[in-house]
Amino acid sequence: MNSEQSSRRGLILINTGPGKGKTTAAMGTALRAVGNGMRVLMLQFLKGSWHYGELDSTKAFGDNFVLKQMGRGFVKVGGAETDPEDVRLVEAAWNEAKEAILSGEWDMVVLDEINYAIGYGMLDPAVVAETLRNRPEMVHVILTGRNAHPTLVEIADTVTEMREVKHAYQKGILAQRGIEY
Ligand code: ATP
Ligand code: MG
Repeated sequence: MNSEQSSRRGLILINTGPGKGKTTAAMGTALRAVGNGMRVLMLQFLKGSWHYGELDSTKAFGDNFVLKQMGRGFVKVGGAETDPEDVRLVEAAWNEAKEAILSGEWDMVVLDEINYAIGYGMLDPAVVAETLRNRPEMVHVILTGRNAHPTLVEIADTVTEMREVKHAYQKGILAQRGIEY
C-alpha cells in the first residue's frame, strides 16, 4: 500500500449557510471525484418539479455519476400543513440514501438539500448520524442545505458556511437558466 492509499479515508462534508453555492459546490466536488475514477450518487431531497440542467449533464457520465430527484419540489411545512406525501418521499429518499452509503458501491454520496428535510422535522438527525458513523470508511458523504443540524456539524470533517454578500434576487432578477437551474 503506498502512502496515498494508506492516507485515503472517507470524509463528511457539509455545505450550509444562507448564501448561494451549496448544491453547486457539491456538484463541483462530485465532478472532481468522478474525474478521479470514483463513482458518485447524488440524491436530491425535496427537489422534483424543476428540471435542473445537471439532470442532463450527469447523464454524460453514465453509471459513474448518477443524479436522482427524490421529491416533488414545493414542500408545505409546519404542523398540520405538512403533507404526509412529502414525509413519505423524504422517508423513501432516506432509505435509498442509507442503502447507498452502507453498500460501499459508491465512493461519494451527495445528500442534496437533506438539511431542509431535517429542519422541517421530516427526518431525524440522530438516524442520519448513526448511518454516517457506520458507513464503510472510504465513503465520502456531502450534505447540503441551510441550517445544518448541530449533531451533523459535530460529526462532519469539513463544514462550509456560504455567506450571502448579495444576490441577484434582491434586485428582482428571477432565477436564470444555467445559474439557478
Ligand atoms: P445553488 O443550487 O445555486 O448552489 P444553494 O444550493 O446554495 O444554491 P438553496 O438553498 O438550495 O441554495 O436554494 C435553491 C435556490 O435558491 C437556487 O436557485 C439558488 O440560486 C437560490 N438561492 C440560493 N441562495 C439564495 C439567496 N441568498 N437569495 C435568493 N435565492 C437564493
Ligand atoms: Mg441547494
